[in-house]
Amino acid sequence: MANTKYIFVTGGVTSSLGKGIISASLGKLLQSRGYKVTIQKFDPYINIDPGTLNPYEHGECYVTEDGAETDLDLGHYERFLNIRTTQANNVTTGRIYNNVIIKEREGAFLGKTVQVIPHITDEIKHNFYALGNNGDYDIIITEIGGSVGDIESLPFIEAMRQAKWDLGPGNFLVVHLTLIPYLKAAGELKTKPTQHSVKKLLESGIQPDLLVCRSDRPITMDIRKKLALFCNVPVNCVIQAQDADTIYDVPLLMRKEKLDERVLEKLGLEPGGEPTLEHWKEFLGRLKNPTNDVCIGLVGKYVELFDAYKSIAESFIHAGAVNECKVNVKWISSDFLDEENIDERLNNLDGILIAPGFGERGIEGKIMAAKRARENKIPFFGICLGMQCAVIEFGRNVLKHCDAASTEWNSNTKFPIIDLMEDQKKIKKKGGTMRLGAYPCELKKGSKVASVYGKLKISERHRHRYEFNNKFLKSFEENGMIASGINPDSGLVEIVELKKHPWFVGTQFHPELKSTVTEPHPLFIGFIKAAIDYKKIKDENN
Ligand code: GLN
Repeated sequence: MANTKYIFVTGGVTSSLGKGIISASLGKLLQSRGYKVTIQKFDPYINIDPGTLNPYEHGECYVTEDGAETDLDLGHYERFLNIRTTQANNVTTGRIYNNVIIKEREGAFLGKTVQVIPHITDEIKHNFYALGNNGDYDIIITEIGGSVGDIESLPFIEAMRQAKWDLGPGNFLVVHLTLIPYLKAAGELKTKPTQHSVKKLLESGIQPDLLVCRSDRPITMDIRKKLALFCNVPVNCVIQAQDADTIYDVPLLMRKEKLDERVLEKLGLEPGGEPTLEHWKEFLGRLKNPTNDVCIGLVGKYVELFDAYKSIAESFIHAGAVNECKVNVKWISSDFLDEENIDERLNNLDGILIAPGFGERGIEGKIMAAKRARENKIPFFGICLGMQCAVIEFGRNVLKHCDAASTEWNSNTKFPIIDLMEDQKKIKKKGGTMRLGAYPCELKKGSKVASVYGKLKISERHRHRYEFNNKFLKSFEENGMIASGINPDSGLVEIVELKKHPWFVGTQFHPELKSTVTEPHPLFIGFIKAAIDYKKIKDENN
């Protein structure tokens, strides 16, 4: 712990200012100067993890290699830094209290009154430092969820205050992300909300070292000086974070504002040379100068909230850049798809992706969309529930098992093509009990996916309870839907593909969780390539 430096990122004024992106961008800059960096997030809600949250509440649930169900910001950390995170990178108030209560029942505090200070704050600090204990990292960035002033985040802020003393001078730094709103009527950027949120932090004994100021227009030197004066920071520690075209611009914008240099100075670390961002800039160049475009229909039931499919949307951006292609996503609600409107709603798409999900709502719309992709040879990508829908569609319309279903929503079907595995049947508790995290998968030689991955052994992340029912596998394969990816340990079907289709792939796992700027996911690259080819042929025929 002694050599590890800790940077804490807090947020003020409103939520949704992009603390995750600022943390990831700062992490990227420090990493590209040669430092070993990881980022962790502490969330103030009482759920033990976001696994039990509806995506409408908190966006996508991001799953790590070790099977932790975590906040979607961890996805940004992995995508920006190309690192792997674990359960230790995301801790909630619920988990902290749960740990303390378990210890209390075990008698760990015998005789003592268990209190927020010191017991809860000690547990928070224990978790703050957990990743720093074995010397794997030079710098650990800790994002504190919520906004300063929330009742819920007080114990985290108090633990930060204490951490400053534990860690000693030069090892602890606070970056406060805040909003500088523009008041149209006054024609001015306003600093008062920021002054108040810094005062709020000061009340808790925390003086921020740097202010990162989000605004929709440039922050003038006058404003910077005013903020410096009222908030006790040097003027060069007032960093502007103007709205960007893409989140992937933010590391370069932060570089321009010298956020990384200020941080290193304050932590007493060598700046080293210029950060190596060539690959990042090359990626941005491709992203911003596409030579073609495609329109992909994303069929799902949470389409009103883009954050619900965050990793999929970002994977499209990575794969689009590889193909120098702008991927326009048309968000299609599966709830409202029916025979009458499907032609119109799925018109003019170059590819269809059916999203993951839970429960019965929107299923029939997804099955209809899979049918359309299969019959019209439109590039198709089904992820988890999306794969299950493609399989059910094939069972119903090709194998003629007309009531083929998943037992998730039809326990009486004669054709339980998607079913619970035996060990899932005993499970009653909902939290953390799915098939979660990385599992190996072996690809069939000569299959489409084998050629796309360029290897036969892969590992991908899962988050589901139901599986392809191997009782039906033979008839599927005889009729042209093959299992091209199999779990070598359990024999479970992990990937299906159609033999006579240019690109029809369904995966039981979530490839979107492993796509990063440095390593865009091969299946997304392949899918976008197939969409480009499909569009070309379509255009030629018109
Ligand atoms: N509801 C399905 C299952 O539990 C699919 C889950 C998913 O799409 N992540 O198996």
